[in-house]
Amino acid sequence: MASAEAYPGSEPARWKYLDQIRTRAGPFTDPDTFYGSKVASEMDRMNVLVIGAGGLGCEILKNLALSGFKNIHVIDMDTIDISNLNRQFLFRQADVGKYKAEVAAAFVMRRVKGVHITAHNKMIQDFDEDFYMKFQLVVCGLDSIEARRWINATLVNMVDEDIEDSVKPLIDGGTEGFKGQARVIIPTITSCIECQLDMHAPRAAVPLCTLASIPRQPEHCIEWAHVIAWDEEKPFPKLDKDDPEHITWLYQKALLRAREFNIPGVTYSLTQGVVKNIIPAIAATNSVIAAACCNEALKISSSCAPALGYPADNYMMYSGNDSVYTYTFRHEKKDDCPVCGNLARDLVVDPSGTLRDLVDSLAVRPEAQLKKPSLRAQNKTLYMQSPASLEEQTRPNLDRTLVELGLGDGDEVAVTDPAFATVSFKFRLVFRKAAS
Ligand SMILES: [Zn+2]
Repeated sequence: MASAEAYPGSEPARWKYLDQIRTRAGPFTDPDTFYGSKVASEMDRMNVLVIGAGGLGCEILKNLALSGFKNIHVIDMDTIDISNLNRQFLFRQADVGKYKAEVAAAFVMRRVKGVHITAHNKMIQDFDEDFYMKFQLVVCGLDSIEARRWINATLVNMVDEDIEDSVKPLIDGGTEGFKGQARVIIPTITSCIECQLDMHAPRAAVPLCTLASIPRQPEHCIEWAHVIAWDEEKPFPKLDKDDPEHITWLYQKALLRAREFNIPGVTYSLTQGVVKNIIPAIAATNSVIAAACCNEALKISSSCAPALGYPADNYMMYSGNDSVYTYTFRHEKKDDCPVCGNLARDLVVDPSGTLRDLVDSLAVRPEAQLKKPSLRAQNKTLYMQSPASLEEQTRPNLDRTLVELGLGDGDEVAVTDPAFATVSFKFRLVFRKAAS
């Protein structure tokens, strides 16, 4: 067997083993799509966009640079905080206060010769479709669901059936404590982030009865102190989650309750975490997920092995909570997806409920998660968040019931939200039968 030669222009030692994968056919390469001799030069020309330069983003930038990508752009509007330094390893103490994208780009370029990274200290919403059209691949390392939904909707909208290049694969990584996921979206072809929105359902609250009667976990004792004991005793006029005196009061209450039920594990920092809803960021989870995402980027760009995405499995979930577990499956595209489908999504509602109930419920329903919705029925504006004059004019509708507003079972309602400027979410009202 001939030994793999480093392609001209590369530093041979650094790229020797990468080039063996990029240039030689393996047991999983598809002979119809794998052109080993061209891969390296094609990857040299590709433009890859990374969104986020935080915990996942630092890992992703380093991995992409060491996977042979040469032209990378990174978008992040955040600046470096001292609390980032334990895991966002491209940043140093002297960088605190500087832009993440800029510092991360400069660091990786210093260490990996031949890589060019352009930093954008901006929001993703500051760029238009012409900008996103320049890239062959988008890799997201974000912690916000809203930003993911925005870039997903933008990439789906950009697809033009006649232009093959308009389909930009989106690789999305996410972590939460010891859990994470890596997924690949081929816009309009495979299930999109909006189709998968229920995977990000807001965390289920612990039933009040568990808190009140039979706590089983330290978190239950803390929630009991937070929700029940605080209200009963009102030690301070109003709970300030940043006031150490208030947290200490909750901690001591929770500790007493935990002792009563023999539950170990209530600490001051856990109390702070539960009350402020803090999920710790774990460096190792970030590196596992970023590595999975960048492997997919390498496979998609080189065809050296089958990638997550089309036509088989597209979603890899990882859990390190209880030993190590991963599960890879195919998340199906949904016909009623507001972004990539064309059917209205069913929304079960109470016909005697008010429009305000419906508006409020859109924020918490796992399938909607719209915080500032404006609603229109077929030929009537129900409620508009802006401009102010229209808001004032439609505000009285909030206190009227759906029936009073003339809405019927099966009616379609279009919902827009400033977080998704281009998308109109179509919902079909399904009246809940009154309990008899
Ligand atoms: Zn979709």
